[in-house]
Amino acid sequence: MSKKIWRHFHKKTLAERWQVLEEAGILAAETCQSLAEGEGMSLEMADQMIENVITTYQIPMGLSLNLKVNDKAYIVPMVTEEPSVVAASNFAGQIVSVGSGFQAEVISRLMTGQVCLTGPDDPNTQKAFADWVSKHQETILEWARTAYPAILKYGGGPRAVRSAYYSYQERGFYLIYLDVDTQEAMGANMMNTMLEAVKEQSCLALNQALAEDDKPLFDPLMAILSNHADQCLVRVQCDIPARKLSRPGLAGSLVAQRIAYASDLAQVDAYRAATHNKGIMNGIDAVVLATGNDWRAIEAGAHSYAVKDGAYRGLAIWTYDENNERLKGELCLPLAVGTVGGSIGIHPQAKLSQDLLGHLPAQELMQVIAAIGLAQNLAALRALVSEGIQSGHMALHARSVAIQVGAEGEEVAQLAKALAESTNINQETARDLLADLRQNKTDE
Ligand code: NDP
Repeated sequence: MSKKIWRHFHKKTLAERWQVLEEAGILAAETCQSLAEGEGMSLEMADQMIENVITTYQIPMGLSLNLKVNDKAYIVPMVTEEPSVVAASNFAGQIVSVGSGFQAEVISRLMTGQVCLTGPDDPNTQKAFADWVSKHQETILEWARTAYPAILKYGGGPRAVRSAYYSYQERGFYLIYLDVDTQEAMGANMMNTMLEAVKEQSCLALNQALAEDDKPLFDPLMAILSNHADQCLVRVQCDIPARKLSRPGLAGSLVAQRIAYASDLAQVDAYRAATHNKGIMNGIDAVVLATGNDWRAIEAGAHSYAVKDGAYRGLAIWTYDENNERLKGELCLPLAVGTVGGSIGIHPQAKLSQDLLGHLPAQELMQVIAAIGLAQNLAALRALVSEGIQSGHMALHARSVAIQVGAEGEEVAQLAKALAESTNINQETARDLLADLRQNKTDE
């Protein structure tokens, strides 16, 4: 597919964009037709999905174009209400993609769940419990397999068992962790089925093996998947010449050096780290949402991973190589996404996203999403250490304000331009400018 077809995509009308997607063979003519008709989730379907439904809630879907990951170009759907996220992703994605692109690898793809039993806060019981779990690993794996055999036919299944113990306020928390290969699914439901079976059977067996005087030692507290998905990790890297980062009046080498300093700051200051990571998640959440995945799970996993060594740190790290004048970026985080399960196969727009992405397997999807996260971080840092984030943001914010005060059709762009040139981008100014605009039209 020639890259030329994407030229000036953002300047095209909606109808022209659908036409590009159809001509490129990415979307079928019927799909483009249903987009033109504004089709989405039906109220009937919504009513089946959650409780007390009264309507559906729409959020725009945009595209990040030609994102190059491991030498393959992707069209990436992004669902977000925040202006500038899609523009930033395209901008930084292109800086990297016109060169060597992003290199990504899945480090591991196992989901982890936990069973917790409560019991005495006692070192002897703790040791007996750890020995029992170690000795019965295969039994525990078999309980899990029997509870959810369907995953075996896809090549997945429970893979590893380990134990842990915590003492808190004179109570013992006895934990069994289970790592499961959930294949194409995120796996929460299948894991929870396995874990509940392990909880019942392990509690019974442990009480039989370790109880004294027929008094049970352990009580089952809970069994659930953990969103601290540190066995489901993806790493993405990029390496770009500093000259590509130059800004008016600022050499690319200086911008690159400052990006590395900003990255260092996110390693030592939690206030900056949280915002650094929020910028990464601006991109990641948008693709996670577009693909019908559970963005709360992804958020929880990313932030718990950011604090894995005891201090909350930036997830993406940038270093500047002065000798070669190159900026290197790396992002490693858990991304427990699936391509089946949950609402993925039901939601019509999640299916549309799969068409746009080209029906990727889960591991490839992890790599693409991570690349979007790193691109998003690059765009934010480049703006922050040069002209600041506001000038780009405010121009796009002006469009939202224009819409809020009732601008329609061509008026939106005209009013946004006038607003961006004004000193105050607020509703009061927007109302005055809109009135002037309409008055001028009437006078013409
Ligand atoms: P499902 O419960 O829908 O299970 C996935 C199903 O997909 C499998 O059981 C299997 O069913 C089918 N399938 C088809 N092809 C494959 C394949 N190649 N690999 C694996 N499965 C395949 O979804 P999940 O277990 O993934 O659960 C995800 C949902 O759980 C999300 O909606 C999430 O929001 C929710 N959730 C999240 C929690 C959390 O994050 N803490 C907690 C609880 C729920 P079959 O054999 O019938 O084909």
